[in-house]
Amino acid sequence: MSTSSRQGMATRAIHGVSSRDPQGSPHTPIYNTTTFGFESTADLLEVVDGNRPGSLYTRYGMNPTIFALEETLAGLEGAEMAWAFCSGMAAETALFLTHGREGIICMGDAYGGTLELLESQLPLLGIKTHLILGHELDRLDALLADGARLVFFETPTNPALELFDIQAIAERAHAQGALVAIDNTFASPVNQQPLALGADLVVHSATKYLGGHSDLTAGALMGSSELLMPVWNWRKNLGSMIAPETAALLARSLRTLSVRVQRQNASAQAIAEAMLRHPRVERVLYPGLPDFPGHDLAARQMQGFGGMLTIEVKGGGEAATRVADRLQLFALAPSLGGAESLVTQPCTTTHHGLSPEERTRRGISDAMLRLSVGLEDVEDLITDLEQALEGS
Ligand SMILES: *Cc1c(COP(=O)(O)O)cnc(C)c1O
Repeated sequence: MSTSSRQGMATRAIHGVSSRDPQGSPHTPIYNTTTFGFESTADLLEVVDGNRPGSLYTRYGMNPTIFALEETLAGLEGAEMAWAFCSGMAAETALFLTHGREGIICMGDAYGGTLELLESQLPLLGIKTHLILGHELDRLDALLADGARLVFFETPTNPALELFDIQAIAERAHAQGALVAIDNTFASPVNQQPLALGADLVVHSATKYLGGHSDLTAGALMGSSELLMPVWNWRKNLGSMIAPETAALLARSLRTLSVRVQRQNASAQAIAEAMLRHPRVERVLYPGLPDFPGHDLAARQMQGFGGMLTIEVKGGGEAATRVADRLQLFALAPSLGGAESLVTQPCTTTHHGLSPEERTRRGISDAMLRLSVGLEDVEDLITDLEQALEGS
């Protein structure tokens, strides 16, 4: 059981662990162990000094279940290394504290927790953060020249599905000596491989597609060992380690990542096309639609268009709320990437804290509904949307 980067995504997700279990188990068992014993002090020092790999203490991440998960996670993004965390925000915090201390530029819309961390909390530590929107990309070079050393963004973004050109932005950042980190949660590694396009680091909320069943909270950071080794001490002393039980559950989920995401891609495309024809729908935002502004870029830099789409209902915010409340199969819940389909109205959930002017500036209308397409029969999902729209 060993993998090479030439193998496909599905193969790497299933055979991503190089060491065989001594009992022959196809999966690394859950080592519910906080500490690991040694034959002798000399033996212990070998591991402590990093002269041989081994388990030591679970908060350090030195636990066989966590090592196995990280090997698979690295393979998914074609990365040299990966670190697992107890949440996506824990992974982002460790990333920013390690590589963002000289200034961070966040482009476009980002996850609410990310924006709060960048806008309100990191500046308390003296870290300069700059938040620019997609139409302000011309400010990037000046901010880089001013000393910011980390460019961070999501693509596609939430909830407007705005696309950013990873390769072009990485070239601009690298020309000024800055690193590029992508939050690849929305696309998942099945649909987008940022490292292959020139990004330096990839961060995930594994709570979403990687976990895939709305039953675990975890995060991951992938990149070169040079960039990941300094993150290790931050994770260790912030104490933001993934629990072995969660690591095993996440490793279980990764074995089906590829088939889940491919099904979600196909269903989202079918729903987007059905919604485009619906008389009560004003607009459909989905990278897989040929007329969508980001379509050409998505077709170039993604392997699939994803399971997330946004519709704009005719009749404004109140009409959209009525649709959200009438949906039966789509649960009204603010997450994504699970087997069950979910709906959120951004102005009442993810972007509720923003003023109406700020939402408009970010291109988010009250009439928007964001759909996370699950694994149900797509005909049933379309029927559910149609009955809900009839009542709008
Ligand atoms: C959910 C999410 C996060 C935060 O992840 P948690 O696992 O909830 O900490 C970060 N980025 C994106 C894009 C997300 O959707």
